[in-house]
Amino acid sequence: MSLLEMKHIKKSFDGLEVLKDISLTVEEGEVLAIIGPSGSGKSTLLRCATNLEKEDAGEIRYEGQFGLVFQNFNLFPHYSVLKNITDAPIRVQKRKKDEVYAEARELLKKMGLQDKEEAYPCQLSGGQQQRVSIARALAMNPKILFFDEPTSALDPELTGEILKVIKDLAAEHMTMVIVTHEMNFAKNVADHIIFMDKGVIAEQGTPEEVFGSDNARMQEFLGKLN
Ligand code: ADP
Ligand code: MG
Repeated sequence: MSLLEMKHIKKSFDGLEVLKDISLTVEEGEVLAIIGPSGSGKSTLLRCATNLEKEDAGEIRYEGQFGLVFQNFNLFPHYSVLKNITDAPIRVQKRKKDEVYAEARELLKKMGLQDKEEAYPCQLSGGQQQRVSIARALAMNPKILFFDEPTSALDPELTGEILKVIKDLAAEHMTMVIVTHEMNFAKNVADHIIFMDKGVIAEQGTPEEVFGSDNARMQEFLGKLN
């Protein structure tokens, strides 16, 4: 069953066409990695998929709730860790407080942050803040979790802990769409990879297909990373 379907999506900013007829589907349990050069439209694609941006043309259909994890964590600085996680389930989803707190504490345990519930974001490392933001997204019980470069604001030694969390979620068959510059991670964790270039899907397939492709733009992109 597909949880997300985007058909013929177009989006322009000030006359610049950033997404040119993008179509994709995400199946339940699938991990989709989106790679490609800076400015190729990856974030815009994610923002359209999650309703943060309205597409100019095309159709988007998705099942259930989604969660979003940003590059810069986007935690509420004046809320404790626990409040960051529980606020939306209680106020937006109108769920029972006891149940939400119990679930939030379980999620914190899972993220290795059980002793941080009273802390404020500024008291945490970047890696810890990103784990809180993943817990916050999971607290909404999303069908799909979207990540926009979840490790690119982190020092290399903190990147690994976030990639591990995402890998563990993949092992639990969480459906995820991940924009990333971590090519080894994409290769190892993704079921399907989309390579975006200048607003189009220039290549897509399994990691083997995409990384083994002789597509010139793909090769140029990989060459620049090395
Ligand atoms: P990526 O995430 O692949 O780096 P983006 O989707 O952020 O690419 O951006 C694609 C292009 O769209 C860039 O040229 C960027 O400057 C432009 N763009 C993105 N968001 C906006 C916006 N809100 N207003 C104007 N231009 C934007
Ligand atoms: Mg981006």
